[in-house]
Amino acid sequence: MNYSRFLTATSAARRPSAVRVLTEILNRGPKSLISLAPGSPNPNTFPFKTASITIEDGKTIQFGEEMMKRALQYSQSAGIPELLSWLTQFQVRLHNPPTVQYPPSRGQMDVCVTCGSQEGLSKVFEMLINPGDNILLSEPAYSGTLQALHPLSCNIISVSSDENGIIPKSLQEKLSQWKPEDSQNPMKKTPKFLYTVPNGNNPTGVSLTSDRKQEIYKLARQYDFLIIEDDPYYFLQFNKSWAPSFLSMDVDGRVIRADSFSKVLSSGLRIGFLTGPKPLIERVILHAQVSTMHPSTFTQLLISQLLCQWGEEGFLAHAERVADFYRRQRDAALAAAERWLSGLAEWYVPTAAMFLWIKVKGISDTKKLIEEKAIKKQVLMVPGNVFYVDSSAPSAYFRASFSLASPEQMSVAFQRLAQLIKESL
Ligand code: PMP
Repeated sequence: MNYSRFLTATSAARRPSAVRVLTEILNRGPKSLISLAPGSPNPNTFPFKTASITIEDGKTIQFGEEMMKRALQYSQSAGIPELLSWLTQFQVRLHNPPTVQYPPSRGQMDVCVTCGSQEGLSKVFEMLINPGDNILLSEPAYSGTLQALHPLSCNIISVSSDENGIIPKSLQEKLSQWKPEDSQNPMKKTPKFLYTVPNGNNPTGVSLTSDRKQEIYKLARQYDFLIIEDDPYYFLQFNKSWAPSFLSMDVDGRVIRADSFSKVLSSGLRIGFLTGPKPLIERVILHAQVSTMHPSTFTQLLISQLLCQWGEEGFLAHAERVADFYRRQRDAALAAAERWLSGLAEWYVPTAAMFLWIKVKGISDTKKLIEEKAIKKQVLMVPGNVFYVDSSAPSAYFRASFSLASPEQMSVAFQRLAQLIKESL
C-alpha cells in the first residue's frame, strides 16, 4: 500500500513533539532515572490522594497514593502501555487480521487509545480529506460523522443500503465512473475511503452480512480505497454468530477500525480505540500529541484495572449481559411499534444497537411532526433529515432510541405518536 497518497499535506507534515517523546521515555524509564526534562507538574502538589471505586460485583478498584500520582500525570499519546497491550491482544483474539504478522511499513496492525471513537474518527477524517476529495458513505448515516465531514468540504458519494447494509451493486455502480487504474492518478480523484457502521448502523439498526463485506473488500482492493469501519455497536449485536469484521479480512492493511467502550463501560469516561495500519495510526498519534495530548490517564488506569480484573472472558460476559438488555429493549420497542404504528408506519428489525428507524406512511417529511407536534405531546425523537448529507431535503423517517425508556414509556410514546400521525394524514 502506498499510504502517502491518502494523506493530506497537513497530516504528512506532522513531526513528533520532542517534549512528548521525552514523556514517553520518562514513563517507560527505570525508577532510577533523574528527570529534569519534561514540563510535568509535581503530583505531590495535587489535591487528590486516593480513590476506591466499587464495581457491580461488589469488588473494588483501588487507587493508592502512588497509582493516584500516576493517574493525575501526563502519559503517552498512544495510550498507557498496559491498556494498549490489553487492547492489542484483545483485537488479535477478536479479529486476528493478517496484518498482525506484517512489518510496520507494510501496514502492521497497530492500536491507539482515543477519547471515544468520535475523536479517533474526526482525526482520521482530518488525516485523509482534502477539500474536493471524493469519499463513499451509505445514507442515512450517523449524524456525528456527517457533522465531522461537512466542514472538510469533501464530495460525499452516497451508496444505497437495505436491511443487510450497503448494497455492493450500488457501490460498484458508483465506482464505475472510474477505472481501477485511475487510483494511480491523483487528478482522477478516485474515492479515498468508504465509511461504514457495519453493526447496528446508527440510525437504521441494520448490519452488514459477511458476504457483502467480502464483496465490498474486493472492490476496495480493485479501486484502492481505504475502509473506515466505525463499529461502536460491535458488542451490542443481538444474533449469536457475529459476522467477521472488515479488519479481520484486511490482507492489504487498508482498514481503520474505530471501537468504543461508550456503549458497554461508560460513555462519559470517553474511551475508544483505533486499530489499523501502523503508518496511518502513527499519523493520528502525532495529531493527538498536539491536540488532546492523550486520553485521561485516570480514566485509562480505571479501565485498564477493570479489564485486568475481569480478563477477556469477564469483559465478554459483561458485554453479553449488556447486549441481552438491549435485545429485550428492542423487543419491547418492536412490540409497542407493532401495537400502535401498524398500518401507519414501517421499520426494519434492528440486529444490533439501540435504534428503531421508522418510516411514516403518507407523510413525506416528518420534521414538523417530530420537532413540533411530538414535543408538544412530550415525546422526543429525531427527525430523519439529520441523517442525510442534504439535511434540508424532506425525510419520511424518524429515529426512536430504545435505550433509556421503559417498555411502558415506549408504548405510551408510540400511542401518542400514532394519534399525531392520524391527525396529520
Ligand atoms: N459512531 C457511531 C455510529 C455512533 O453511534 C457513536 C455514538 N453515538 C459514535 C461513533 C461516537 O461514540 P463515542 O462515544 O465512542 O465517541
